Amino acid sequence: MSQKEIHKKVVILGSGPAGLTAAIYAARAQLDPLVVDGPQPGGQLTITTDVENYPGFADGIMGPALMEEFRGQAERFGTEIIQTWIDSVDLSERPFTLYGKENQDTEEISTIIKADTLIISTGASAKWLGIPGEDPVPNGLGGNGVSACATCDGFFFRDVPVVVIGGGDTAMEEATFLTRFASKVTIIHRRDEFRASAIMQERALKNPKIEVLWNTEVKEILGTQEKGVTAVKIFNNETGEESEMATSGVFVAIGHQPNTQLFEDWLEMDDVGYIRTEGSSMKTNIEGVFASGDAQDSYYRQAVTAAGTGCMAAIDAERFLAENESEESADAASGEG
Ligand code: NDP
Repeated sequence: MSQKEIHKKVVILGSGPAGLTAAIYAARAQLDPLVVDGPQPGGQLTITTDVENYPGFADGIMGPALMEEFRGQAERFGTEIIQTWIDSVDLSERPFTLYGKENQDTEEISTIIKADTLIISTGASAKWLGIPGEDPVPNGLGGNGVSACATCDGFFFRDVPVVVIGGGDTAMEEATFLTRFASKVTIIHRRDEFRASAIMQERALKNPKIEVLWNTEVKEILGTQEKGVTAVKIFNNETGEESEMATSGVFVAIGHQPNTQLFEDWLEMDDVGYIRTEGSSMKTNIEGVFASGDAQDSYYRQAVTAAGTGCMAAIDAERFLAENESEESADAASGEG
């Protein structure tokens, strides 16, 4: 297979709110950006339902529809979007080099991308509990009754009981959404209070189909490949009591992990893996590399803040390129003289 080589002034990894906003700004600045779609094009909003807190949509908008708008706007100004699995990167010199494959499982490098500047907007992915039964099929029941996405899989749990694990906004949102299908939704939380926002807690707690098991940890997911999930083994950390609870579905909603493993050897990160940026800018420790959205923000993690930091990263990249181009032409001019 022939290898494709692309050289761009601005390369953006990830097509969630951060990446596509960076693309809109870079494209309008005539920088002809390239966006590389990750394994989940459009990012986390494509697996959510109503988004009620994105400004400009008084009646709310569905997550996937919002991301279609972002994408259309980025493309309207000339953004090129490609799909390739980035296998490794070399950030030792500019232009930076990114090695892309057709998919995760192949060995062969099919695309080499050279980037004068790089904006990392690779977002974050759902975290898992690491308990028996949770692994994907065939080793466990993942995808066969265990899920981290109610929007994707809720439909399969009509008129049966399900559990949602977690106590943040994601857990509240998943639980509330699942009441459309399931006969009963039990939120299992390890403490005696939620960390979710007041409004989302209230909505979940008011729902007659939702019950909460406080101070409870799920130790194992039980079932068979034929029947799917049949029960969870639970442990009450106040009383020390262990028991089994029948259920047909388990939705894990315990937060997210930034998708930054590719950059571990190059960029400064915090203990969890969020990329560190400098002061109020989106600059990383490597000149010409910028980070935005959930890959660098462990605190706000909202679509609108991701979009905001995407805009900042594009402006930072634009200024970096302008400064470097004028330095390069000054060097060339002094060389001539
Ligand atoms: P959070 O980190 O806020 O919450 C994670 C929850 O999972 C916590 O309750 C935590 O328990 C629990 N948890 C973590 N690890 C484990 C474990 N190993 N076993 C059992 N329980 C565990 O993550 P979210 O994804 O809920 O939210 C992230 C951000 O996204 C927040 O800022 C949130 O506001 C935002 N968000 C907004 C939405 C909206 O506005 N529509 C929707 C979804 C998210 P504990 O409390 O004990 O630490």
